[in-house]
Order: sequence, then C-alpha cells, then structure tokens
Amino acid sequence: MTGAQGVRLGLFGASGRMGRKVQEALAGPFAGRLALAVAVDADTPAGVGFAGCDVVVDFSVAAATDDLLARLSGTGAALVSGTTGRDAAAEARLVAHAAHAPVFTAANFSLGVAVLTALVEQAARALGPDFDPEVFEIHHGRKRDAPSGTALVLGEAAARGRGLPWPEARRAAREGDTGARTADEVGFAALRGGDVVGEHTVFLLGAVERLELTHRAADRGVFAHGALRAAEWVVGQGPGRYGMRDLVADAGAGPQPG
Ligand code: NAD
Repeated sequence: MTGAQGVRLGLFGASGRMGRKVQEALAGPFAGRLALAVAVDADTPAGVGFAGCDVVVDFSVAAATDDLLARLSGTGAALVSGTTGRDAAAEARLVAHAAHAPVFTAANFSLGVAVLTALVEQAARALGPDFDPEVFEIHHGRKRDAPSGTALVLGEAAARGRGLPWPEARRAAREGDTGARTADEVGFAALRGGDVVGEHTVFLLGAVERLELTHRAADRGVFAHGALRAAEWVVGQGPGRYGMRDLVADAGAGPQPG
C-alpha cells in the first residue's frame, strides 16, 4: 500500500455540496495526508487539467463525464468517482479509461451501505422466491436522478440473491394501470424533499411476515470521508475498476479519520 502522505488530489465538482464536504474533510481529518492541488467546477477554463495529481475525486453531474475524462487524459491520475446517474455510454467511457488508470466508483461511499448491500443479498437468497424485494429511498429535493444510484445497487443485490436477471428485473416506477406485480421484479419508489441526506430501505415482503433493512445517512460528511479513504487506497493500485467491496475487503484500508 502506498503511503498517502503528500498525495496530490484533484477535485471535480469542487463547488457542489459534496465538493465542499470533501474540502472540509481535507482541511480536517485528512489534513497532512491528502493535499488539494487542483479544484475544478463548471466555470473552470477547459485548459485546466489534472496534470500533477495522483488522484482525482469527482462529485459532479453525469453529463460532465467527457469533460472529466478530457481533463484527466494523459495524467495517469487515479479516479475516484461518486457521481451517479451515468448512462451506459458514459459508463463505457469510464471502463475504457480504466485500461490506463485505476478507476474507483461507488454510488455510496458509506461503510454502512457497503455492509447493507451484502446483507440484502444474503437475506434475499435465504428468504427465496416467496418474499418480494422492493426498494424505497428518500433524498433532498435537489437530487437530479431517480431511483438513486444506491437504490439501484441495493436492488441489484436483492436480484442477485434471488437469482433474477439484472437489469431485466428492474421495475423503476409504477403509475396508473400497472397490472399485478410479477414474481420476478424488483420495484423502486423514490421520495424527494427537504434536506434528507439519504435514506434507503429494502423490503422483503412475504405473505405473513416482512423484513425491512434500513440505512440512514445523517451527514454528507460520511460520503466525503469514504471517498477520501478510497482516494488514499486507490493510488497504490494498478489500472482497473475498483469499488467499495475492494476497500472493505482490504483490512489495511488505511487509518480511520479521527
Ligand atoms: P451538486 O449539484 O451540489 O454539485 C455538483 C457540482 O458539479 C456543481 O458544483 C456543478 O457546478 C458541478 N459541475 C457541473 N458540471 C460540471 C463540469 N462540466 N465540470 C466540473 N464541475 C461541474 O451535487 P452533489 O449533491 O454535490 O452531488 C454530486 C454527485 O454526487 C451527484 O451525482 C450525486 O448523486 C452524487 N453523490 C454521490 C454520493 C456517493 O456516496 N457516491 C454521495 C452524495 C452524492
């Protein structure tokens, strides 16, 4: 594992809610471990790239993926991306980038959600086809994508546990004359409002009992800390795709922030 002291960090989406949380964490628990070298937001001139950065942390918008990759081009910097809502084409461009540099993506950087994802798969497998998996989430009203990236990860985990094909089993919204629920779908419901940081519940609905597995994030700082731990970890890795599973599996995931 590479020592993180003096790691030079680029930040993409630096002025957003998460970008500001990352800067707070860099000035706080990660001070002396990671140093902000380049901060980029939508109004930063196109000529400003991430040359000299060891790792770039991205919390922006899916539509900015090409801009992000252009600024990363030729730098060799690792990428840690928390941006959600990318379509298949934008995902494919990230995969292509991972041939040259380490790319760590997570729809949710909280350790609690990483554990929840494993529990959901285990529960769906154990309960079997008599229990219908459904995913419910709430976020603040400014969130642009629905269902949330985390809800989709949790739904996919339930489908994996149940042996359902993904994304075919995904039932993103119900309205009007939907017909009866089929046995091979995972439904999603999204609420938006207030300043809810993120709440996810996976229901496993049986005939005479049901299981509910819930995670609630209390402060966005949890995602910033997780992303910076991922940034410290990923600079020591070779080109390829990485995620929370790798970070959690690696017992030496770095010192915990104070
Ligand atoms: P936000 O809208 O507050 O911030 C997004 C920022 O990106 C803005 O400052 C915007 O100006 C900037 N931006 C837009 N286009 C850009 C461009 N071309 N170049 C550089 N910057 C650009 O949103 P947020 O709440 O900070 O969330 C950002 C993303 O992170 C969303 O996709 C959200 O779903 C995701 N998110 C992920 C996690 C996680 O744990 N993975 C946690 C929270 C949020």
